[in-house]
Formats: sequence, structure tokens, C-alpha cells
Amino acid sequence: MKLGSIEAGGTKFVCAVGTEDGDILERMTIPTETPEETIPKVIQFFKQNPVGAIGIGSFGPISVKKTDANYGNILNTPKLAWANFPFLKTIEEALQIPIEFTTDVNAAALGEYTFGAGQGLSSCLYITIGTGIGAGAIFGGEILEGISHPEMGHVIIRRHPEDNFEGVCPYHRDCLEGMASGPAIEKRWGKKGIELAERKEVWELEAYYIAQAIVQYTMILMPERIIIGGGVSNQTHIFTLIQKQVKELLNIYLSQSQFHEGISEYIVPPGLGNHAGIVGGLVLAKKGLEESYSCSG
Ligand code: ADP
Ligand code: ZN
Repeated sequence: MKLGSIEAGGTKFVCAVGTEDGDILERMTIPTETPEETIPKVIQFFKQNPVGAIGIGSFGPISVKKTDANYGNILNTPKLAWANFPFLKTIEEALQIPIEFTTDVNAAALGEYTFGAGQGLSSCLYITIGTGIGAGAIFGGEILEGISHPEMGHVIIRRHPEDNFEGVCPYHRDCLEGMASGPAIEKRWGKKGIELAERKEVWELEAYYIAQAIVQYTMILMPERIIIGGGVSNQTHIFTLIQKQVKELLNIYLSQSQFHEGISEYIVPPGLGNHAGIVGGLVLAKKGLEESYSCSG
């Protein structure tokens, strides 16, 4: 049976049809406008390309708790047209198939865990460094969540003593996202990240902040691998800088090889490139289909 996937981002929506092996058969990319403009195109795509179930990875914050009344809604996003939009319900009512719903980073984490850089492990964490910063964690095939999905991009980090940048997070100012997202880089240095490729100090400072976050994720969760994706991670030289700073921050406290000679296999780029999210949606869709079978006996 064919499966569907929706990667709902702040700037674009990707819809795809694929297989349970993670292969993409059809794909459509459209800009993210208002729900009234964008959602009918999504529904039309899946009416023309029928699937058995769909997995959605959405920008957030979103409600991911199946027991909550607003489950499947987008919550108080700065993209005002989408605030409180009942995303899951709208798609479900139009297509009448099982729909699974999670964050964009959780979907990407699941994609990487199943078919990418996390394949064969029992846990991994996926971080995106793009317009925002977010992360998702998979343990034993399950997406880690509690009251809601994690918000690992908004952790508090130690400011570099020579960095006076005020930060861009509208809620916390100088949290990780406020100091190290793509827009933070652009505002601090006055140029887009891609134009700053040769400026060593830009990437040293970026690694200084990302490494701190990785140390926190490591200490709290001990995932077997940390995968870094998102636009900013296209500066591939940043991986070595992050690995070095993580090692220095951990010092000799942790003895496992991942934190010493094996660090280049602990902090890695995505195995699926920028398809992690859309492939993860297929994995979610498969879960949704299996759950619907087990519910209907
Ligand atoms: P989004 O987060 O919106 O889904 P991306 O992951 O592509 O999209 O992130 C966009 C951000 O990443 C922008 O702030 C952009 O300036 C930055 N970015 C994209 N490509 C690069 C690059 N090659 N080098 C540095 N920064 C980049
Ligand atoms: Zn924040």
C-alpha cells in the first residue's frame, strides 16, 4: 500500500507519496501561504495520488497529545494565519484515512532513525539549525514526548564573554535559537550565513553555542548518535568545530569512545540529506496504518 507524507514548514510544504521502505514515488512542493490557500492544494494532491495513511511533520508549536482536545492543531505560532489551525482534523475529514501528526523535527528524527544515520541504533537525536532551532529524539523506535513535544531549541546557553549580540528569540532573546539560528547569524554579522563561509570567527562562535546544547542533550538523554541538519549545517566545516568543542566541554568526564576518538561518529550530518522529514512522514504513516488495523481488530 502507498503511504503519504507531509512536511509542513514555515516557508514551504512538501507532500509526497512513497513506500514503507522510505522510497519517494511522487512529490509536490508549494509555498506556505495561508491555510485557506495551501491546504486545498495538499488535499487535491492526495486525492489525485491516493494513499493508505499520511504522516505529517509540522512546524510548531503544535498539539501532539492524542488525549488533548486540541490534538492536531497548530498552537500560538508567530505565523498568525496558522495559529489554532486544526491541521490534522482538516486533512482527516477531507481524506478519511489514518493521519499521524508530529513536529517537523520529530519526523526528521524518525526518518533518520529508520533509514538514515540512526539506522541500526536504538536511539538518536536529530537537530535542525535553520530559521529556527529544534530537535527530536527517538528512543526504541518511539518519539520522545511528555506534556508536549520537546523544545530543545529554546534551552538556555552560556553567552560567549566577547559576544554582545542581544539575540533574536521573541520569547527568551538569548536562548540557543536566539543566538545560533540562521536569522541570529544574519543579524549578528550583517550577512546571510552562506555569505560568511570564509569567516572563521562566525563558525567558531556558532560551534561554541551548538556544542553547549549538544552537551546538555548528551548529559540528559545519552542518545547513541546526534544528527545535525538544517540550512546552517550546510557549512560542513562546522562539524569538526562542534565535535572539538563538545569534547572540550565534556572534558574527560565521560569515558565512552563516542566522546573521544569516536566523536566524528557521534555528531554527524543526516544520512538522508534534506529528505529526512519527508521520509520520516512515511514511517509515521506506516505506524498510523498499523494502529488503525489493530484498533479495528
Ligand atoms: P527552514 O528552517 O526555514 O526550514 P533551512 O533549514 O534551509 O530552512 O534554514 C534556513 C536558514 O539557514 C536561513 O537563515 C539561511 O540563511 C540559513 N542557511 C541556508 N543555507 C545555508 C548555508 N549554505 N550556509 C549557512 N547558512 C545557511
Ligand atoms: Zn527561545
